[in-house]
Amino acid sequence: MTNPRLAVSACLLGSKVRYNGDACEFRPLSRRWSEHLDLLGICPEVGIGLGVPRPTIRLSRGDDGVRLVQPSSGEDLTDRMVAWSEKTIESLVGLGIDGVVLKKDSPSCGIERVKVHGRREGSPMRNGTGIFPMVAQALHPQVPMIEEGRLNDAEQAEHFLSRVHFHHRWRLAGAEGWTAARLMAFHNEHKLFLVARTADGKRRLGRVIAEGFDAGKPASEVALAYMIEAQRSLGNLVHRGRFAHAMERALARLGVDVAPGVRQDIITSIHDYRRGLLPRMAPMLLINHLARASGEVPSWLGHLAQPVPSSTGVLRRV
Ligand code: SF4
Repeated sequence: MTNPRLAVSACLLGSKVRYNGDACEFRPLSRRWSEHLDLLGICPEVGIGLGVPRPTIRLSRGDDGVRLVQPSSGEDLTDRMVAWSEKTIESLVGLGIDGVVLKKDSPSCGIERVKVHGRREGSPMRNGTGIFPMVAQALHPQVPMIEEGRLNDAEQAEHFLSRVHFHHRWRLAGAEGWTAARLMAFHNEHKLFLVARTADGKRRLGRVIAEGFDAGKPASEVALAYMIEAQRSLGNLVHRGRFAHAMERALARLGVDVAPGVRQDIITSIHDYRRGLLPRMAPMLLINHLARASGEVPSWLGHLAQPVPSSTGVLRRV
């Protein structure tokens, strides 16, 4: 099994490519999570030929919308950056990336709340998106994307990594070409994963498959539409209640003979998780233990429990 592959702003990996010649290494990713992920560094500003160090650039609102400009020279870099971004995201997807982690606040890399300057000097609006993520999301919405700032929150980090692993398994499932049977098998394997993490994703994704094949579309096209809709559905954080419900379904689906007291202990721990009294890993460990004691842990159960960063920053399975 290969590791999921992420494209990452090069400065977050410790490369000294920022405008001032510094890096801003995000160590949980570059030093710890990198054991479990393949990381590819990209720097859009170096990519379009700007040197290190270099004059700062920024997003500015003009007559023809928001542009990427270098105030010191007055140069408009938008077209160069858009062209580089289009070429780069296509080659990254060709290389098999499963997600993108980008540096916040950058006019080239920031995904949200990037400063946009007006015509007059004054407070910029914090409502912009950097050029690279804007282009990448428009061309490949099936690839999950996040800023490093959000990865400091354990729940957001876990949720993003679950989206990355989901994309990774989808990519492997279709590596030898998509067929209707392969896509249905993938969907069936991930029903509980979707129940745990989306409001209505399982049903809507079933409909994407049915409508795609009813319309006679090629399997690869249906599979891509499936992943675009899946990542859209997975855009929000999971509620505890939803995940607890999926664990109850997993327990029922295991269907193994178990003493009533043991089953009740697991149900109690799921309730305690739902009420915020236990971490998710407590009931998941019990369910996994039960599955292992009665044979192999089924793959659908393995998919439900994703690797998560613990408070010490080490990935582990829950
Ligand atoms: S363009 Fe992106 S990768 Fe390059 S230094 Fe700026 S934030 Fe980092």
